[in-house]
Amino acid sequence: MPKIVFLWIKFFNRIFMEHQERNIIRDLLKSHKVDIDVLVKGWVRTKRGNKNVAFIALNDGSIIHNLQIVVDVPSFDEELLKKVTTGSCIAVHGKLVQSAGSGQPVEVIASSIEVYGTADPDIYPLQKKGHSLEFLREIAHLRPRTNTFGAVLRIRHALSFAIHKYFNDNGFYYLHTPIVTGSDAEGAGAMFRVTTLDMENLPKNEDGSVNYSEDFFGKSTNLTVSGQLEGELGALALGAIYTFGPTFRAENSNTPRHLAEFWMIEPEMAFYDIKDNMDLAEDFLKYLITYALEHCHHDLEFLCKMYDEELIERLKFVTENDFIRLTYTEGVEILMKSNHKFEFPVSWGIDLQSEHERYLVEKHFKKPVILTGYPKEIKAFYMKQNEDGKTVRAMDVLFPKIGEIIGGSQREEDFAKLEYRINELGIPMKDLWWYLDTRRFGSAPHSGFGLGFERLVLFVTGMGNIRDVIPFPRTPKNAEF
Ligand code: ATP
Ligand code: MN
Repeated sequence: MPKIVFLWIKFFNRIFMEHQERNIIRDLLKSHKVDIDVLVKGWVRTKRGNKNVAFIALNDGSIIHNLQIVVDVPSFDEELLKKVTTGSCIAVHGKLVQSAGSGQPVEVIASSIEVYGTADPDIYPLQKKGHSLEFLREIAHLRPRTNTFGAVLRIRHALSFAIHKYFNDNGFYYLHTPIVTGSDAEGAGAMFRVTTLDMENLPKNEDGSVNYSEDFFGKSTNLTVSGQLEGELGALALGAIYTFGPTFRAENSNTPRHLAEFWMIEPEMAFYDIKDNMDLAEDFLKYLITYALEHCHHDLEFLCKMYDEELIERLKFVTENDFIRLTYTEGVEILMKSNHKFEFPVSWGIDLQSEHERYLVEKHFKKPVILTGYPKEIKAFYMKQNEDGKTVRAMDVLFPKIGEIIGGSQREEDFAKLEYRINELGIPMKDLWWYLDTRRFGSAPHSGFGLGFERLVLFVTGMGNIRDVIPFPRTPKNAEF
């Protein structure tokens, strides 16, 4: 619509309909102006009071705190007020005044109330406070209306924004890597198949195998487990890129740290060696946590009070201290010398379990740890080989309460060494010809890493289960909402 028409409509609205713009509760709670007319809209958290006065706690999602609405009961329609129950959605016109009570700085004396949507108290699932997180997972479609999930989702948003800001401010380009991939050689985990073939009536080859040439893409395809291989193509053209997108792993891991669908951030940088890579990972994590401390203090204070007293202290501690850097070999020695009884015994060559990672971080160093120089057998084919012939330039960043939060490496840039390793592992070369072209033409030293976004949100919110830091968790046998 032309701007002039739009302005006229706005003008007439003002004059003839007493149109008033909606006020956001976050703004009102920090407003220094009182005795002004306001219009607020939101969901009722509680209503209490008596036959003379009612107090409605209204939340519009903009901030964890509620705005108190004071209602002079005798001057309102009784039927209307009956509809204002926990969970209902209302609009309130009134005057913003300094609060008489001690719980809040300001409150609204209601002059009129409109009910947008009722919420029958007999069946509204969030009628009472204090539901368990397990129960709330069963009503994932409604849990954003709770204080806890409001806080988590606002922090999740802030961290997403901070990730883009960090990379943009530091000269990285956001590269969109594909979600559907034709290669199953990425090697980071079991994959979900993508197909339009008729499952009841699969086209077959003569030898009885499925004929994927009749499938949508003319070949077998899957959901991506990582954007890294494509990220490397971007880094070797644009210098420094990052991806931030969904990744999928069809592993049957029912742990508090694994999802079947999760978001990953993968920066990839030309001309970075493993040390540059570690410096970036540490600086990046500290930036994100500092950003959350500065921009999410209301939500963090709430989570601290309700779930984890040490949360804010722990976040500050991580931003203020250097991460410990040591090799896998040194780490394994520490674990073997400790008298701690681990569920999985430790020896050189094992893939470290979360219990081992957390021992190093929480018990031994009491600081975040970056482990490097892992045995090549337990790491991916593309990692740069060290001169010892046994280890690769991998780096895992280990965090308190989480274990591995970042996995990365310097990449093998030498064509011959990479080809040798691919053959050694029996990875089908034909699927990777495009990847190997980066080493054939203008190869360069380069590095990168993957940060699991939900693991970061877990750490920053102090929540205990990864299912509670993503709006709609996908885990084995669970994709309802
Ligand atoms: P783990 O050993 O914890 O299963 P991984 O070594 O298989 O993880 P990578 O392939 O290195 O994981 O992925 C990079 C990052 O992505 C990890 O450091 C972690 O933060 C995150 N991540 C990996 N798998 C999952 C998952 N299933 N759910 C959520 N985040 C994950
Ligand atoms: Mn890893």
